[in-house]
Amino acid sequence: MGEAGIGPGGVTLDHATGVASPYQVEPGDLTGLIPDEPAYRVDQLREWLYEHPVLSADLMTNLPKSVRDRIGHPLWPFEVEREQRADDGRTIKWLFRCPDGAAIEAVLMGYPRRTTLCISSQAGCAMACTFCATGQFGFERHLTGGEIFAQVAYASAHLRDHPLPGSPDRVTNVVFMGMGEPLANYPNVRDAIHRMVDVAGMSGRSVTVSTVGVVPGIDRLIEDPWPVTLAVSLHAADDHLREQLVPLDRRYPIDSLIDAARRYREAKGRRVSLEWTLMDGVNDSADQARALAAIAREIDAHVNVIPMNPTPLAPQQRPPDDRIRAFVDEVARHGATVTLRDTRGVEIDAACGQLRVRAERGET
Ligand code: SAH
Repeated sequence: MGEAGIGPGGVTLDHATGVASPYQVEPGDLTGLIPDEPAYRVDQLREWLYEHPVLSADLMTNLPKSVRDRIGHPLWPFEVEREQRADDGRTIKWLFRCPDGAAIEAVLMGYPRRTTLCISSQAGCAMACTFCATGQFGFERHLTGGEIFAQVAYASAHLRDHPLPGSPDRVTNVVFMGMGEPLANYPNVRDAIHRMVDVAGMSGRSVTVSTVGVVPGIDRLIEDPWPVTLAVSLHAADDHLREQLVPLDRRYPIDSLIDAARRYREAKGRRVSLEWTLMDGVNDSADQARALAAIAREIDAHVNVIPMNPTPLAPQQRPPDDRIRAFVDEVARHGATVTLRDTRGVEIDAACGQLRVRAERGET
């Protein structure tokens, strides 16, 4: 791929060829890429890109070579810089590199009944949460809707040839829990959700948008038609503690966030998840557990406890296992439904909040 940059409308162009990836074009505008072809060819192309993605345009067997050549250079809006596996092949992390140098990471996790892809919505992040590796690097740029959706398409294409052992051979669930704050890039996240649900045919319920608490973004999500799952990264039950972990708390304190979560619950009829990254000696006390349970009961939310994945850039640590257990039990004892998230991909820095560290340290 040649020198490239961001063109008009955020489209990434390959300067060597002057051609954009077809994923950088709105799915309704594909005609513009192959203007001389009949309409049914455009439909065939859209099916390949969205419903049955393949790794290379050469595999789009019912399209003439001229069309494959036209849209296949490049097919993807990024190159695959690295692919790493962990957990006996049930976890794969990809580092994608955009022509302008922006890094995108995505993690695929296989479970007995679902195959979940964790995707990035921004290169870097401006939220600066003190325990998150991405937050320490600052913000690079928003990803486009095409770059966000292409992570899902790439993983689907990969799964066709290499299913994860014992898991569905397609992406069944997507979580916006990679790099970035999705509700700080809502127009592009919206475009990506539209592509997943309305064009690729995924169920809205199987898409989870995780937010650190951008209240106006939650209200915009309410306005949109999809029944996506909302996850709110709470991490603390009082503002004094929360603002030390999540700087955005000063702008949108817990009360305003809980109100927004309640509005979401009422508008969509969907249970909200409260995410709680559990940090040793920080937010793992019985008092915090009880206050968390009270909030969860109040808005009928489900609590997800994620033990802190230590990163070299943040001081917070993972509590010992008996403290993790005691915290989860205390939340449950006070009447909230709570699950302890299993930690995938720790050994390849693919776990929550760890993305990006190794690449930036220049290790392989
Ligand atoms: N910006 C969004 C989504 C990205 S982070 C959000 O904040 O929700 C996805 C989840 O991973 C969030 O709940 C976040 O708090 C959590 N997380 C971040 N760093 C972590 C770490 N080092 N260990 C465990 N969880 C972490």
